[in-house]
Amino acid sequence: TPTILWLRRDLRLSDHPALHDACASGQPVIPVFIHDDEVATLGAAPKWRLRLGLAHMAKALGETGSKLVLRRGSALDVLRALVAETGARRVVWTRGYAPGQISRDTDVKSALKADGLEVQSHPGLLLFEPWDVATKDGGFYKVYTPMWRSVRDRDVASPLPAPTRIPAPKVWPDSDDLDDWQMGRAMNRGAAVVSGHIHVGEDAARGRLGAFLAHRVARYKSERDRLDIDACSGLSENLAYGEISPRTIWHSGWRALHEGHAQAEDFLKELVWREFAYHLIYHTPRLESQNWRPEWDGFPWQGEGDAVQAWRQGRTGIEVVDAAMRELYVTGRMHNRARMLVASFLTKHLLVDWRLGRDWFAECLVDWDPASNAMGWQWVAGSGPDAAPYFRIFNPDTQAQKFDPKAAYRKMWLAEASRTPPETALAFYDACPRSWNLSPKDTRPSPIIDLKDGRERALAAYKDHRENQ
Ligand code: FAD
Repeated sequence: TPTILWLRRDLRLSDHPALHDACASGQPVIPVFIHDDEVATLGAAPKWRLRLGLAHMAKALGETGSKLVLRRGSALDVLRALVAETGARRVVWTRGYAPGQISRDTDVKSALKADGLEVQSHPGLLLFEPWDVATKDGGFYKVYTPMWRSVRDRDVASPLPAPTRIPAPKVWPDSDDLDDWQMGRAMNRGAAVVSGHIHVGEDAARGRLGAFLAHRVARYKSERDRLDIDACSGLSENLAYGEISPRTIWHSGWRALHEGHAQAEDFLKELVWREFAYHLIYHTPRLESQNWRPEWDGFPWQGEGDAVQAWRQGRTGIEVVDAAMRELYVTGRMHNRARMLVASFLTKHLLVDWRLGRDWFAECLVDWDPASNAMGWQWVAGSGPDAAPYFRIFNPDTQAQKFDPKAAYRKMWLAEASRTPPETALAFYDACPRSWNLSPKDTRPSPIIDLKDGRERALAAYKDHRENQ
């Protein structure tokens, strides 16, 4: 009798415990991806990127004699239909930890079990399960550094090999056509531009890891904050769709450390920030949408308006902020330091609700991740766990001088005010909606807020809020 392998954000063949389990009995395996509400509500860029990941996965499965079955609908309805059509007795999947995933999976699991099926969820998204990492008094870590110390030296099992053959059923159930799902519809002109900056699939992910270890890991700590240097791994895009396992990256990072690249430790630490985000969202689901620190409730955040739109379009008049917002629109990614700067500018200088920033990132990032995005925004806004204190307000100009000393990053992404803008900067105009009505011939906007005034206004607002609580 077949096993149904419900694929979600785990689009790889190697180091895939659920796939490994499904293949273990030698019985047929039916891999299925379900276009459910979780997929329907994805932002434009992650949905478009997911489609490319699915196409790759379908091809990779095809090469092992298997197939990716595509179905649309509620997960439970689809799985029940497949069980009825195929006679499957087992359903397996890789666990998710974001609030919507947990409630969906819990419901699906109990309903299928009540139907008499065997259901097994597996690890694979994380290095450490959230319930396996605890503080001395049995709670979860709310501060990153002690969590890092507690997991640093743990044994992490070696990655599993990809199966050489995935047993196929004699008759395949029907599948939707991926193109009919129109997952790229909301990307408009952007898709053509962003395509040049992405790396899709398991081989591409491994290539990225290999290139990082060969050329960049040795200087990772010293250069990772530099906006003008390609110093990081770029692996967040592949991790977001499970095209590489964190375990594979972890073991490679350790190998680099043992080979004498001391700065590989900082890379491993960043991977644990990802774990930290997932552990937090698992233990405190409010991280996703509510102030993690309730004392921030009632803070008079600003809502939608011209300032937010200027921020989205890279027209705040603050060069490094605008450059970063354009990088996001053109590449679907943004440098980590730049993410911190634009988030700080939005939530502090402009006093805008962090959720508006979170949502724009969720719309535009090809590496969008529910846990890291929410944690990143709350961290910068000051409302999150282990957050930057409210009085830490980045000065974008000072930061730009430090991390983009020759203005190479700003020139790369800003076309206005340059007679010969580089292609990267011009690409923004190909990607952005015509309704924005922007042209490289526009004059550079003047700052929408004086940095000093904005800083003082933010500090006064925080003081006021604290005093009135
Ligand atoms: P590297 O420097 O090569 O790091 C290796 C891996 O470590 C990354 O791929 C990532 O998985 C993890 N990592 C690194 N930094 C962080 C971090 N600060 N938090 C959590 N994990 C981290 N990351 C996402 O993957 N998706 C998001 O939606 C996202 N939104 C963010 C929003 C804000 C406001 C901020 C400040 C950060 C956000 N990050 C997010 C975290 C971080 O910016 C990216 O993970 C990083 O830029 C990815 O680039 P890289 O793969 O080259 O990272």
